[in-house]
Amino acid sequence: MANDTITEIAEEEILPRTQDFLDKQMKCLIDGKWVDSASGAGFSVYNPANGKIIGMAPSGDKEDINFAVKAARKVFDDPRHSWNTMTPSERGKLIWKIGDLILENADELAELESIDNGKPKAVARAADVPLSADLFHYMAGWATKIEGNTIPISVPYAPGAKFHAFTVREPVGVIGQIIPWNFPLLMAAWKLGPALATGNCVVLKPAEQTPLTAVRLGEILQEAGVPDGVVNIVTGMGETAGAALAAHDDVDKVAFTGSTEVGKMIVKAAGGNLKKVTLELGGKSPNIIFKDTANLEQTIAGAASAIFFNHGQCCCAGSRLYVEKDICEEVVNGIADAAKQIKLGPGLANDTEMGPLVSEEQLARVTGYMDAGQEAGATCVTGGSRLGEQGYFVSPTIYKDASEDMSIVREEIFGPVVVASPFDDIEEIIKRSNDTTYGLAAGIWTKDIAKAHHTAARLRAGTVWVNCYNIFDSALPFGGYKQSGWGREMGHEVLELYTETKAVCIGL
Ligand code: NAP
Ligand code: MG
Repeated sequence: MANDTITEIAEEEILPRTQDFLDKQMKCLIDGKWVDSASGAGFSVYNPANGKIIGMAPSGDKEDINFAVKAARKVFDDPRHSWNTMTPSERGKLIWKIGDLILENADELAELESIDNGKPKAVARAADVPLSADLFHYMAGWATKIEGNTIPISVPYAPGAKFHAFTVREPVGVIGQIIPWNFPLLMAAWKLGPALATGNCVVLKPAEQTPLTAVRLGEILQEAGVPDGVVNIVTGMGETAGAALAAHDDVDKVAFTGSTEVGKMIVKAAGGNLKKVTLELGGKSPNIIFKDTANLEQTIAGAASAIFFNHGQCCCAGSRLYVEKDICEEVVNGIADAAKQIKLGPGLANDTEMGPLVSEEQLARVTGYMDAGQEAGATCVTGGSRLGEQGYFVSPTIYKDASEDMSIVREEIFGPVVVASPFDDIEEIIKRSNDTTYGLAAGIWTKDIAKAHHTAARLRAGTVWVNCYNIFDSALPFGGYKQSGWGREMGHEVLELYTETKAVCIGL
């Protein structure tokens, strides 16, 4: 077994500029200034690989949110402000520059993400950081393409009258954005890119577990030339800063990514002024392997990666694995072998393939599900427990022989835990796949094109991957059916959710 030990590394293996950032006192960005929380209180930020404190961030609360919303409002409501008089082309160039600066600082950002979240530095460098840059580059192009329509109208009660009617797409206003800890920089990019491309102002609250790259991104936004007050960043707790932002009467929209449970709280909080709400929530995604899959070896590797990528801390993780009966045992054993080969260690170690979970709380949550699976009578094929005494590591885990009512099958674990189960026929597996309150993603593995299309069409999920998994692109919309969310991130679809349509009708 390769993953029964955890690599140790020397603590100083980071770039001097990463160290410089860590040595600085983190602050909130409000109205272009870096400030402490109004109360002066802060909270500790931990390295999940060893549980040690890596820094302090301001504990922003209602008062800080009020300041930040006021700053955003002031910019948005002033038609002569440079943000509002800027041409779409200028705005596009500014957003493009954010993408360039992310790439210029890619190594530092990857290290910060790794120290803060626990993910392997190499993964952050290859995926999180370039995807974040690409999102800004993609959205930069849209700044000049936010168009309305000219509409020929008939007006039955005004015979003979002539009108010139058209629509314009305007920014929604001040946007509150609340993001989770699993892809801290990327989630900030997904939220900020479209908001800026459409000319909104923003107050962003990163997750308490992972504020580092959001604060660093604030510096990058300033360097790119984003005017003061356009993007404000308030670090703090969800129940205080997050709740105040969601409820704020001067916020026109709240965009949230996180758990379904908190998503429902956001909807309630938003009811006061009926602000617009978009939600990217949890999932319990089915990954279906038919026995006619083209290449079993690649399918096994794909199914392993579907659950183990980012330590299973993906909202779209392929956590319910359904395998056609004839090949089920072979696939489960193959994934178990892959799981045992994964090298666990601190994210900063060069050869680490899986880091720790993000926090002690997440460790307790994931091991709690592992215990529940065991107690309910599921068979643990591999893994099933915490690894080591230091840091928040757990073994990549597979369960089988679980019944559909067990919590490990029904609830989002958000860790490297997959439950495998055989199936006999296509109608049965479509029904079982859809038997969930979630609807974020799904996977299908088959070489039969007609079967792939038929199954994809019947799955109630926002994304269906066929013969691949976890493929993301700035141009491809992402989001959920059912309790996995409202609205979409990325692609041109997201732009609809950051604009209001105004119809203008001119009597001629
Ligand atoms: P979470 O507890 O829902 O937290 C997400 C964010 O909401 C954090 O910034 C959190 O702040 C904040 N928050 C917590 N309570 C709040 C409240 N009462 N009012 C306003 N904001 C509040 O979720 P998590 O455990 O951190 O993240 C994992 C979840 O996110 C999973 O369920 C996963 O499926 C989902 N997710 C979905 C997507 C997607 O695109 N669909 C992407 C990534 C993650 P603090 O952390 O500071 O408390
Ligand atoms: Mg952290």
